[in-house]
Amino acid sequence: MKRRDFIIKTAGLSAASLSYSQLYAHVNKTLERTVDQTKYDVIVLGVGSMGSATCYHLAKKGYKVLGLEQFEIPHEQGSHAGQSRIIRKAYGEASSYVPLLERAYENWKTLESETGAQVYYKTGLVYFGAARDPFLETVKQSSAKYKIQVNNLTAKQCSDKYPQFKLPADFQRLEEPDAGLLTPERSILLFVQEALFKGAVIRTKEQVLEWKHEKGTVTVKTNSGTYQASKLVITAGPWAGKMMPALAPKLKVARQALAWVKPKKWDNFVLGKFPCWILENNEYDFYGFPILPVGKFGGPLGLKLALHSPGGDVTDPDAVNRNTKEVDERVLIQFLNQFMPDGYESTLVMKTCLYTNSPDQDFILDYLPDFDKDVAFASGFSGHGFKFASVIGEIMADLAINGSTRLPIDFLRAKRLG
Ligand SMILES: Cc1cc2nc3c(=O)[nH]c(=O)nc-3n(C[C@H](O)[C@H](O)[C@H](O)COP(=O)(O)OP(=O)(O)OC[C@H]3O[C@@H](n4cnc5c(N)ncnc54)[C@H](O)[C@@H]3O)c2cc1C
Repeated sequence: MKRRDFIIKTAGLSAASLSYSQLYAHVNKTLERTVDQTKYDVIVLGVGSMGSATCYHLAKKGYKVLGLEQFEIPHEQGSHAGQSRIIRKAYGEASSYVPLLERAYENWKTLESETGAQVYYKTGLVYFGAARDPFLETVKQSSAKYKIQVNNLTAKQCSDKYPQFKLPADFQRLEEPDAGLLTPERSILLFVQEALFKGAVIRTKEQVLEWKHEKGTVTVKTNSGTYQASKLVITAGPWAGKMMPALAPKLKVARQALAWVKPKKWDNFVLGKFPCWILENNEYDFYGFPILPVGKFGGPLGLKLALHSPGGDVTDPDAVNRNTKEVDERVLIQFLNQFMPDGYESTLVMKTCLYTNSPDQDFILDYLPDFDKDVAFASGFSGHGFKFASVIGEIMADLAINGSTRLPIDFLRAKRLG
């Protein structure tokens, strides 16, 4: 289907003017109409954050691509649900990610200009933490090395500009004005929409059961069909260990709890008045977002925050306890009472989401050994991957098609893990 036909068939609305629920309905309706083929250039296993972007980049380059997704697109069982993800460039995890982030920012912009839709919101981001906190130190190093604006605010400057926070006097207060948030579900739908426009076949509610590689051909068996391709890209998120048993010992899936709360003073925390934030507090790191209008962003409604807990409860992705634990809620309320006195009146919604942790919290992008560069994978995003989805898709398309990428990913290769 051509782009114009799609837009006309979606009641004359362009992606820019569609609400989230309209975009969801129209992309999923189109998915049902996609025509099957039996032999593809590339099969992408898992169409979530990284898989949708990979399908988009491959289809854009003219390759015949099949994306296989076990649930609907998007869904709440994996790592991409929850309305918002922070994007920032002065990277605190390691400065080596910054060149990839520069490219990710460019690619998000391209997606926006191709679709006329907005996925990036420049809210600014504040970082708080003790003197010499290692994460904040690396933020400053990344800022200095790559000339990314990060302002070091005095206590007074900070309380004038961000009166919502109550911080210890000796805390550092950094501000990255060009950081903000991405809308994950909308981004994934737009990647899928664009991939479909370019001829990709995306099949939902179809679970990959097994795959094999023989004589330069990959055969993938699902619960309703068998498909062949020259190359396979595995972007299975929390299920990566199940699809690549050799990698499973290196990956730990951890359950994360997040909350949307009603603050005492709602207006002080809305988009436009309140930034994204990260607070490093000894072993606990918290982060959060402004309140986003539901009509434009989809639900849930409220002030969103979470504890970034890489060591969180390890779980099987097919048997996650989605019930809210009392302790999850208590930790977040205590945090708000201590650092954002007007931030908590009542809890509106709590949800769970999954991290797929690598041993060193860095991503793993590589080929599986023994398959002649025919099987590439992207995994171990360790709770900080979404902002990179737009560039990971490009990298995985490069690895599948060219056998290499010009983007600097050597520090993310699997060999570092032994
Ligand atoms: C609570 C929370 C907050 C986060 N906050 C941030 C943030 O602020 N900023 C940031 O950059 N990152 C953040 N992240 C991390 C980011 O969301 C993840 O790193 C990213 O979504 C991982 O993408 P993925 O493609 O690996 O996994 P997913 O998006 O889960 O995609 C994997 C897909 O593969 C499919 N799949 C798996 N197995 C099969 C199979 N056998 N057959 C068919 N399909 C299959 C799954 O159903 C799924 O759709 C956060 C994560 C969580 C959980």
